[in-house]
Amino acid sequence: MENQLVFATNNEHKTKEVSAILSPKYKVLNLKDIGCDVDIPETGNTFAENATLKSSYVVSHFKMDCFADDSGLEVDALNNEPGIYSARYSGQRGDEANMHYLLQKMEGENNRNARFKTVISLIKNGANYLFEGVIFGKLVTEPRGQNGFGYDPIFVPDGYDITFAEMDSAEKNRISHRAIAMQKLIAFLQEA
Ligand code: IMP
Repeated sequence: MENQLVFATNNEHKTKEVSAILSPKYKVLNLKDIGCDVDIPETGNTFAENATLKSSYVVSHFKMDCFADDSGLEVDALNNEPGIYSARYSGQRGDEANMHYLLQKMEGENNRNARFKTVISLIKNGANYLFEGVIFGKLVTEPRGQNGFGYDPIFVPDGYDITFAEMDSAEKNRISHRAIAMQKLIAFLQEA
């Protein structure tokens, strides 16, 4: 019998990708598939807390095992901001506004070190397992590139001289914080 597992996301593309890897051992369903149209509140203080709020919401309301992710950008010179506020750093949800707000805060700053982080919470048989992915890099002063989303145009991963937004999406998806956390989750589930 297939084990059913919910991925607490509305992103069909993310669901398909993980689903293909975990099939046939697990059948992966997303929020739409289980009829959950609630915008689950992310009121935690860390990525781990927010990911866990999402996974535990599904477990308690739908009685199914579930995993959820939460990600963001942490900047050394800004005391790890924007962190959990990455999606609404400028006070609005727009990627452009957030990126320009961040660049403004970084004006004249020499320490450009930053990292993207993802934490996944998996609740399986009542236990919460956390998986973290981090990619280190540097912030440039002017956005470059058209691919990706969020802060991609200003983030150059270590070992590269192009931004995430200049990289083709297959390569970004191979090395990103999200990919690293997801690989850890998948390895765990394939063993479990
Ligand atoms: P989420 O938790 O994956 O929805 O990410 C929250 C916010 O972090 C996004 O709205 C972006 O601002 C930022 N972020 C997370 N991952 C990435 C990424 O891979 N590239 C650029 N920005 C990201």
